[in-house]
Amino acid sequence: IPTIRTICCVGAGYVGGPTAAVIAFQNPHIRVVVVDKDPVRIRRWNSRHPPIYEPGLAEIVRIARDGSRECSVPTAAGDAAAATPLSSRTPNLMFSTDISRWIGEAEIVLIAVNTPTKYRGAGAGSATDMTAFEAVTGEVAQHARPGAIIVEKSTVPCRTAQLMQETMAVHRPGVHFEILSNPEFLAAGTAVNDLLYPDRVLIGSLPTPTGRIAAEALASIYGAWVPRNKILTTNVWSSELAKLVANSMLAQRISSINSIAAICERTGADVDEVAASVGYDARIGNKFLKAGIGFGGSCFKKDILSLVYLSESLGLEEVAEYWRQVVTMNEYARDRFTHRVVKCLNNTLRGKKATVLGYAFKKNTSDTRESPALEIIKTLLEEGPREIAVFDPCCNPVVMREEIKQLLGGGRVLRSEGGSIEVYTDAYGACAESNAVLITTDFDEFGSKPPLTGGAAAAAAAAPAAKKKVPVDPRPFANPAKPSENDLLALHKYLINTAAQQATDPMQRYHAEPDCDSTC
Ligand code: NAD
Repeated sequence: IPTIRTICCVGAGYVGGPTAAVIAFQNPHIRVVVVDKDPVRIRRWNSRHPPIYEPGLAEIVRIARDGSRECSVPTAAGDAAAATPLSSRTPNLMFSTDISRWIGEAEIVLIAVNTPTKYRGAGAGSATDMTAFEAVTGEVAQHARPGAIIVEKSTVPCRTAQLMQETMAVHRPGVHFEILSNPEFLAAGTAVNDLLYPDRVLIGSLPTPTGRIAAEALASIYGAWVPRNKILTTNVWSSELAKLVANSMLAQRISSINSIAAICERTGADVDEVAASVGYDARIGNKFLKAGIGFGGSCFKKDILSLVYLSESLGLEEVAEYWRQVVTMNEYARDRFTHRVVKCLNNTLRGKKATVLGYAFKKNTSDTRESPALEIIKTLLEEGPREIAVFDPCCNPVVMREEIKQLLGGGRVLRSEGGSIEVYTDAYGACAESNAVLITTDFDEFGSKPPLTGGAAAAAAAAPAAKKKVPVDPRPFANPAKPSENDLLALHKYLINTAAQQATDPMQRYHAEPDCDSTC
């Protein structure tokens, strides 16, 4: 097995940043360099505040990047109270824009760039847009040291490794590179926890002696903290396909229970009771059976569509249609919810205010890609409301305003410009005088549980058991669509109390300044 001294991760996004940080954190003797073509992103990774919010991420980055003494991490047993202080360590995590240099220095190169759905040309609407991945493959082919192990971390179509091998052969004929597939299964909002305690790590390689040695080298990196029985090695095509299938099957469960929710609403059955009853069956299990407004995020939809495209290109029309229906049902669930809200408001929003609580695609993340909230806002806007108030505990309001403007095609979108959208810095203000409050993400503070903050968030990220100890807010909204003054007062106090603990996180710092008098 080759000695690994330097790992280069290309792509400093939601996957590359946290994955590289945890690898560096757990392998203090290995230098891990994250490179990206976006200098702003790299600057932010080098600052005190990472460009993305994930519970516990800032702490892990600080420890690995700065060798910080002050930080502490929760114990493996997940006991937040007994978090052990760290002694200083040599910094081994770096962020850089010097892509070719660090690719050239590394024994292992992880490629973690974006692979969205293609929106024009052949396969538009379902095929994967490989522009970024191909560009990086070209750079790696030119600059990687002979014998380097190149790893697909991005989610890519099945048989991408073959295309990579061909690209490498064109650029560097006669030089041997091993290509591995190592898809990432982390979920936004629990990325650090998922990386520290993965259900499994999957490594696909060619079934050759050199392929197996390369897989073993990568396995030894994860072996620093992941039990060996959780590191699965397969052939490279199985590994590539398994990632698409995992996301498609998770999404399929959500669409299945949402289709049942529609039946429940017409029959008097309660979908939560049905889901609980069904979930007790060990063959089915109780995860991903929560009915709601459908899934969002950058991955589920694009990965199902990639599976649809793969099926179509293999001539498997019935298979393609089966999986496409998961996306169709998801859109139906979201639209059914919005139309129900409009119906409850006498089929008109003229002169009315509607509040959307939650803008990210789920709780504890600032990731807003493919967020259902945005589609809901768009549909509500068509009804000509007086105001659409938006609040999200993890998203920066300034960024939200810009993003909403862009996504709605510019023009007069915000209230300050004569439009209807107002982005709030506290839930209390957003809900004031509203005709309807729509809870569009499962943030704890919109329900019955208090949010995780500061050190508690880091502890929970690193320790699933610690989550159970979080006390439950005694005063949830009795009726979220029509909060009473007491409900709102409790929520307000609650947000203020938690704000102080969040002071280290700029993404959440605006929490600390809700304007009580003007909004009570
Ligand atoms: P992202 O958009 O957050 O980050 C991608 C980064 O790659 C960006 O910072 C971009 O600047 C950089 N990049 C693009 N082209 C580049 C180039 N030529 N050279 C250098 N840098 C370049 O994407 P992400 O969410 O981190 O996703 C990355 C991959 O991981 C995707 O394939 C995705 O499907 C997969 N994935 C994502 C998640 C998730 O929760 N976001 C989970 C599992 C897997």
